Amino acid sequence: MSLIQPTRVAFDDPDLRNKRAALVAELRTFLPDDSVLEREEEVRPYECDGLSAYRQLPLLVVLPRTVAEVQRILRLCHERRVPVVARGAGTGLSGGALPLPDGLLLSLARFNRILELDPIGRTARVQPGVRNLAISEAVCPQGLYYAPDPSSQIACTIGGNVAENSGGVHCLKYGLTVHNVLSVTFVTLEGELIELGSAALDSAGYDLLALFVGSEGMLGVMVEARVKLLPIPERAQALLAAFDDVERAGRAVGDIIAAGIIPAGLEMMDGPAIQAAEDFVHAGYPTEAAAILLCELDGTNQEVSEQVMQVRNLLLDSGATEVRTSQNEAERLRFWQGRKAAFPAVGRISPDYYCMDGTIPRRALPEVLRRTAELSQEYGLRVANVFHAGDGNLHPLILFDANQPGELERTEELGGRLLELCVEVGGTITGEHGVGIEKINQMCVQFTPEELRQFHAVKAAFDPLGLLNPGKGVPTPRRCSEYRLSTPAASGQPCQHHPRPAALS
Ligand SMILES: Cc1cc2nc3c(=O)[nH]c(=O)nc-3n(C[C@H](O)[C@H](O)[C@H](O)COP(=O)(O)OP(=O)(O)OC[C@H]3O[C@@H](n4cnc5c(N)ncnc54)[C@H](O)[C@@H]3O)c2cc1C
Repeated sequence: MSLIQPTRVAFDDPDLRNKRAALVAELRTFLPDDSVLEREEEVRPYECDGLSAYRQLPLLVVLPRTVAEVQRILRLCHERRVPVVARGAGTGLSGGALPLPDGLLLSLARFNRILELDPIGRTARVQPGVRNLAISEAVCPQGLYYAPDPSSQIACTIGGNVAENSGGVHCLKYGLTVHNVLSVTFVTLEGELIELGSAALDSAGYDLLALFVGSEGMLGVMVEARVKLLPIPERAQALLAAFDDVERAGRAVGDIIAAGIIPAGLEMMDGPAIQAAEDFVHAGYPTEAAAILLCELDGTNQEVSEQVMQVRNLLLDSGATEVRTSQNEAERLRFWQGRKAAFPAVGRISPDYYCMDGTIPRRALPEVLRRTAELSQEYGLRVANVFHAGDGNLHPLILFDANQPGELERTEELGGRLLELCVEVGGTITGEHGVGIEKINQMCVQFTPEELRQFHAVKAAFDPLGLLNPGKGVPTPRRCSEYRLSTPAASGQPCQHHPRPAALS
């Protein structure tokens, strides 16, 4: 049984059945039949997000089509004190869109229109259910693109990206979602429509836009965003460097940035990830390498030519055993093919995998990679590493088999220790996947009780009843007290092997 997820509640629990019937009757007074899903087989597809180790059937699912419908739904939930979980494409990896047994799941899937493209102002106004990649596809004819590019960009939505402050390969040079969104419009639980930010570069008052980005559906339901567009660079070229030592590859990352070069992408894969990706997509990766670095440079022809030479020399000086430079666009895309397919590739070699996400200062990369390998041995669980090395954003993928008794719990515990290692070296427990339910205990390690009180105060200012995505993102004081008591790392003592408490409220 999971150490993190609260006990699952049965869909046909008699109290829930009554609550469901009453809510459905009210919703149907203003929503068409196909916008309310109430039968078990209809709501089953929504029982989890990309973190499929945790599942719960929602009370019911609503799929509104208009902002006015979202406003009425939220007003009703406010009146009836019904919790609400917003959902985009459900690709989140921290359980942010995990439903609540007594809560309504609000899908934004039908908000999938690009409302306005402004090639002169280089902005796009989009609904939250628009897929990330669809924006770049729509503005490609104008020579523009939307820079943040999560590996899930073919499926994930801009609503989810804003809620998680998503990143991607290009975020090292071009910033995370927060740096590429100019404004958002959201609906409060009381049904009010609020716009944060503006079409201009800056806006007056507190920077509530930055606060909303990354708020994991806990402050409001976003119904529109205005995003920045960038010109497609004249040229992009990639290098692939092989290393026979993981720590050496980690040091090479620091060497490149220290030389004053900000690549468009700087990614690392270790041996198990290389092998899995190669077996899956046959990208031509050197499977004997302990690690590879993929480095993309973009800009004008001249800039790229100069930087390719510079980076090539740096990589060789850092101990690369082989450096390849893409000779054409097809080869550049082939270099990236394995990296982009790395998660599903790992999914082929293990019955289950658990993707962690933490960020560390770049200088700590060699140490953290070494200690990750030690922890993997200690727990007897294989770990594949594939990550945004330039940002210090790690993604250890823990391979496990949920059907083996105790293996999920061991995986959760190892995941927790890897995140706490990030905190120990001066990093954070999240890079781009959010906290959700997955990392809620580690919030108690990252922040003091006083700091968490400020988080609760912010939440209360937007959502005094605590009905928007409750139980995610920010732990209750009670949860933290119990976690601190049971955990040396959380109480300021060095990390040791420790059991984690069962889920609390
Ligand atoms: C194979 C794979 C690769 C991935 N690679 C990356 C990566 O490189 N970088 C990265 O950052 N992430 C990555 N992810 C994680 C995930 O794709 C992102 O977090 C993404 O932003 C989630 O978008 P979504 O539409 O699926 O949101 P969901 O999973 O549906 O929801 C995520 C959170 O957003 C909230 N939310 C959704 N829509 C709204 C809204 N309209 N208003 C308010 N709250 C809302 C939900 O309540 C939830 O808390 C990856 C996932 C997978 C499966």
